[in-house]
Amino acid sequence: MRPAVMSETTTLPKAPTPKPWIEAIHAYVPGKSKGKDGRPLIKLSANENPLGTSPAALSARGAAPALYPDPDSGALRAAIAERHGLDPARVVMGTGSDELLNLAAQGYAGPGDEVIYVRYGFSVYDIAARRCGATPVVAPDRDYGTDVDALLALVTGRTRVVFIANPNNPTGSYLPGGEIARLHAGLPADVLLVLDQAYAEYLAPEDDDGAMALAAAHPNVLVTRTFSKIFGLAGERIGWGTGAPGIVATLNRIRGPFNVSSTGQAMALAALGDPDFVEASRVHNREERARFVQRIAALSNHGLRPLPSEANFVLVLFEGVLTAETAFEGLADRGYIVRWLPGQGLPQGLRITIGKSDDMDAIAAALREMAETAR
Ligand SMILES: *Cc1c(COP(=O)(O)O)cnc(C)c1O
Repeated sequence: MRPAVMSETTTLPKAPTPKPWIEAIHAYVPGKSKGKDGRPLIKLSANENPLGTSPAALSARGAAPALYPDPDSGALRAAIAERHGLDPARVVMGTGSDELLNLAAQGYAGPGDEVIYVRYGFSVYDIAARRCGATPVVAPDRDYGTDVDALLALVTGRTRVVFIANPNNPTGSYLPGGEIARLHAGLPADVLLVLDQAYAEYLAPEDDDGAMALAAAHPNVLVTRTFSKIFGLAGERIGWGTGAPGIVATLNRIRGPFNVSSTGQAMALAALGDPDFVEASRVHNREERARFVQRIAALSNHGLRPLPSEANFVLVLFEGVLTAETAFEGLADRGYIVRWLPGQGLPQGLRITIGKSDDMDAIAAALREMAETAR
């Protein structure tokens, strides 16, 4: 056989072409930790726990073997199930809840299908919808909060998945249980409702949006949780979800086989065994958030407006002379990095993670100074 020879007229080989729906994705923009000049700043841009990580979890870190992890995260799933009163067979683990959000879209939607989420929702939903070739459909907000009626009005025969974060990121808004139930009741039975509870541990213990009960009772609800936020284990990438056996089986079929590391499993297990750390984190957040919101609300005559938040961050709107961009730069000059979100349609907002007491005082004082001198 003669080797194929490229003739003068043959065009050069093309590069592999990504799918158009993949090319349409704007990659996730993580919270920064360094200023423009490269100096490290105090990071209040990624909703991490300012108290760090449970000491019990940190001491479990070195104990895990470096060989393949337990592919089923058996001990960790059993502990999660026990804590939440679930059947362990109904718990699926993810490399962060991020993986589970993506798998939920991929498992149930594809080209020609629609995935709904709210404007000012978590930016991963848009990526998850596009990754599998589905069409993202964005429901309008109601003063930055989730509007159940607006969302239900967008449901069509093509709708396959609906994503809701409760509390929501980046707004901090919260839908009470009645609204979540109304949303679920209004959806066709063949639409998967994903209730993302990344910040659920920050709610008062008596506050329950009913998501777990819905996931236990209905075949079309997936609840996702994470060890990244209140547990302070974001670097280990551990999330979990619960839902009907069919949903859990679907996600298990397509998740990474060894998707949670041995170290991550050991640390999460130890973190679950230290409820005092979680409670201290929740109380710190509740108190500092209230203090911070009060100080920012006092700047309303300068156009600053903190949105009500049930999470570990506050979205501050800048509707006066001082702009969010100027405030963002001013805070960076003072050593703080927060999240400015023009890419999410929020050029007027800064999302500020609730940090240590002193830092929140310094930020509130800096915003006051900037607001009073803005022209
Ligand atoms: C932070 C966050 C997550 C969690 O991401 P992980 O992948 O578990 O670190 C999920 N949903 C929302 C709304 C978040 O803000």
